[in-house]
Amino acid sequence: MARPDYYAILGVARSADESEIKRAYRRVALESHPDRFPDDDEAHERFREASEAYEVLSDPLKRARYDSSRLLPQGLDLTKPPTVATAREIFGNMFGDVFGNRRHKRRKGRDIRYTLTVTLADAVLGSSHTISFEGRGACEVCEGSGTEPGGREAVECPNCAGSGEVKTGGLFSRRSKCGRCDGLGMIQQDPCAACRGRGIIRSQRVFDVRLPPGTTAGTEKVLRGQGEPGRFGGEPGDLRITVNVKPHQWLERDGQNLVTKLPLPFTRAALGGKIPVPTIDGWVDMEVPAGVQSGAKLRLRGKGVPDSRGGRGDQYVELQIETPKQLDGTRTKELLLELDRAMQREPVLPGHRELLAALAAHDGRKHKN
Ligand SMILES: [Zn+2]
Ligand SMILES: [Zn+2]
Repeated sequence: MARPDYYAILGVARSADESEIKRAYRRVALESHPDRFPDDDEAHERFREASEAYEVLSDPLKRARYDSSRLLPQGLDLTKPPTVATAREIFGNMFGDVFGNRRHKRRKGRDIRYTLTVTLADAVLGSSHTISFEGRGACEVCEGSGTEPGGREAVECPNCAGSGEVKTGGLFSRRSKCGRCDGLGMIQQDPCAACRGRGIIRSQRVFDVRLPPGTTAGTEKVLRGQGEPGRFGGEPGDLRITVNVKPHQWLERDGQNLVTKLPLPFTRAALGGKIPVPTIDGWVDMEVPAGVQSGAKLRLRGKGVPDSRGGRGDQYVELQIETPKQLDGTRTKELLLELDRAMQREPVLPGHRELLAALAAHDGRKHKN
């Protein structure tokens, strides 16, 4: 088989230097690039030939051997002629991705996102969970390759030369997904029967997730490689689990501490003593000093959020002293009237003597009317 005339293909003289050959190759390759002429076989061949010519003429050793072989009547097959796909690589490596095409061959699998909703106690104290969902996983028959076990490997799609996209129309036309390979750039010669060559099947996926003590809302746990499988040798995606924390009836988190707003009847506030308080570990008794005021913050040591060093934050209990909104029983009202009179005779609110005297005068006027 005679060697083609590489100088004629690139349109350069036999004496052309390296930069002349490079310029010529760029011109011919751009004028016949498969992205510009996706359906033109003649252009594909010109592009392929130009790349072959450049590969030989740009290498001084190959060029010398080629020049001498041209003198022989039969010629010598010095190099394996490149395919359109390798020609694209030669061109792309030199001049970059001039048409902005992406390569689709190796595809990383997509990440899977999952929201795990837990109670505040589960997040704060740490907990284990089993999550399950129907998702896309690697086909077990072909191990995600999409190729029937023992079958031939997937090959580059000849329609789009592996790009997954084809151009329609002229130079400034739109690119659209290649219909032959469905945009994957690869074609299965022996597709796996179980997954129809896709490498992916939907199945019930089950994972164990452990939350360490002190887990905060919005924490993302990443299980590497547990997302959707990659294709054609691409890496699998990740499983990304976001922790969502349900609001607690009593407790709110404030960094390493927990905060409770606790209502307390005004009588109990005046008397003081032990009152039950909800904590993340359950109810505990807390000592309230007699005469405690609304808004007072009391601390329960070590009832907060555990940290990684074995310590624990505190719980703050903010008291909201409550006054009854309505008095249902006559007994309660009688007692309150008695209490009211007692407080006027013997003022228990320091600094309020004048106010109480005014109140008594006001009550006196009311009784006269
Ligand atoms: Zn399969
Ligand atoms: Zn294709």
